[in-house]
Amino acid sequence: MRKAVLLVFFLLLTCVWNHAVFASDAKLPVILLDSGHNPPKSGAISVRGIYEFDYNDQFTAMLAEALRKASFHVELTRLPDKSIQLNARADLANRLMPELFLSLHHDSAQLVHLESFDINEITAYRTKKRITGYSIFVSRENAQFQHSMLFARQLGEHLLQLGRKPSLHHAENIEGENYELLDEALGIYQAGFVVLKKTKVPAVLLEVGVIVDEDDEAYISNPKNREKMVQAIVDAVNITVKKIRLGESD
Ligand SMILES: [Zn+2]
Repeated sequence: MRKAVLLVFFLLLTCVWNHAVFASDAKLPVILLDSGHNPPKSGAISVRGIYEFDYNDQFTAMLAEALRKASFHVELTRLPDKSIQLNARADLANRLMPELFLSLHHDSAQLVHLESFDINEITAYRTKKRITGYSIFVSRENAQFQHSMLFARQLGEHLLQLGRKPSLHHAENIEGENYELLDEALGIYQAGFVVLKKTKVPAVLLEVGVIVDEDDEAYISNPKNREKMVQAIVDAVNITVKKIRLGESD
């Protein structure tokens, strides 16, 4: 009898404890991470013949883990083996209404800057001259443009602190580029991408690095560099969420 009472008490305690954990988790700030493109073959192909979505998925997984450790509740628009269309990514953001939406990509360049070569029976491209660094995009059409800019600036500042530079090649006056630079020093562009303009929460798209450039691919595929970039993004997210909650816009 005593054992049974003890068991009921223990079960009750576990239940209350689980509920407490769940309840507190529900109050954590929600960050929605969006790994760009869909498997199996999508996005740019790196100098080493790796598809962009693969880089995006790996980086997203690392960032999700680091954000969870930093007491954020992380949601993903898609799991590594799943596909999702662009509008559905924005729709999910608008249903979940996270504090921040961050789309993660790895960059390429226009064909005029590339030369093709064959690797593992696929045609890959590499830059003829060095194009290295990150790029950040926001949309003026986003309902929370000011907060998107705040997040973008925090990301840029933290990446610069690592010694990373904005690549700036998307501002070049050639077909396929011509993106308006909103902040040249931090590498922030205006773009009408679906995942930026249709989301009703602060939204930023980050090109982590240029995978068609041998030097930049070597940098971003180095685990230590990835860890540093992940930590820089976690710091940027932390500061942005605090500032938004305090009602600050820069
Ligand atoms: Zn991409």
